Amino acid sequence: MSIVDQLQRQHLKQLTPYASARRSMSGGNIWLNANESPYSNSYTVDDSKLNRYPEFQSQPLNQAYAKYAGVESSQVLSSRGSDEGIELLIRAFCEPGQDKVLICPPTYGMYAISAKTFAVGVTEVPLLKSWQLDTESVIDAAAESKVIFLCSPSNPLGNRLDPDDIEQVLQHSPSSIVVVDEAYIEFSSGNSVAGWLRRYPNLVVLRTLSKAFALAGIRCGFLLANDDIIELLQKVLAPYPLPDPTVQIAVQALQTSSLERLQQQVASLLAERDRVQTALEQTPLTLVSESDTNFLLYQCEDAAELVSTLAEKGLLIRNQSAQRGLNNVVRITIGSAAENDELIQQLKDYFS
Ligand code: PMP
Repeated sequence: MSIVDQLQRQHLKQLTPYASARRSMSGGNIWLNANESPYSNSYTVDDSKLNRYPEFQSQPLNQAYAKYAGVESSQVLSSRGSDEGIELLIRAFCEPGQDKVLICPPTYGMYAISAKTFAVGVTEVPLLKSWQLDTESVIDAAAESKVIFLCSPSNPLGNRLDPDDIEQVLQHSPSSIVVVDEAYIEFSSGNSVAGWLRRYPNLVVLRTLSKAFALAGIRCGFLLANDDIIELLQKVLAPYPLPDPTVQIAVQALQTSSLERLQQQVASLLAERDRVQTALEQTPLTLVSESDTNFLLYQCEDAAELVSTLAEKGLLIRNQSAQRGLNNVVRITIGSAAENDELIQQLKDYFS
């Protein structure tokens, strides 16, 4: 028996790691499989102090994000992407082998994988046919769930959850942490729930610079919560969670001029999304849900074949069929106008 077989934690034997877009597909020249932004914005980095460790939490960064999100800076924790926020919550609140988190599939895969990594159970309360919360069942199951993960707007569906349902869950699950993952909030026509932090001590909001901010490469996310939760999470946070260049770039991305550019880029992406959606109405693809994000989710006959045919031509989209409740479904990120033209042409060719 190998040293790994002998020593690894038992529950990891069954764990299938997250098949991220970058890990599961390589090559290609048009990447529409990770919900990234097609924009590449430039920033300046001062490299004169890279011999020094960065701050544990950068106050200029947390203040800038607090101002952007409309919360207090003491309610902000900056993290290595919002994926780290998910992990911190599970590590801080869930006893391994005992506690459970609650998810509402189809939903973002990392909630369950993070839980399983720490031997924490996962209760599934699927979304209704309308792709909205089964609020009553969530509240019933909340009694046995330490952390409830809601994703709005949703990855992979693209729709947003009814805020009244989210509020019901918050009100009736006072002994659970209710996490609202707002990774795609900048694209949404709905409002953030961050303004509810004053009302609900059990609310946590997850944010990221990886999507609309077009900064997936710097790995910067934010967790918004009341001070006592932030203080707890700081106990389990790494000593130097964010690289100094990341902090420098993130601060610049939150300046007024960058935020104006962000708004323009979001508006262009939403216009492109509508254009792609209209063009794809001419194909046999069926839209699964209205999108409030920078991607579209489609049902097709054979998702694996469609994804691999496009990949052979260098165009990467994501097969979401492994998700509970989704079958032969592909997720397509909105790219630049030229990339979207190529996508539309390839799909027309595929179905012709
Ligand atoms: N939440 C959702 C809903 C996402 O789609 C993603 C990225 N795919 C994340 C969180 C993680 O984002 P990051 O770690 O890049 O901030």
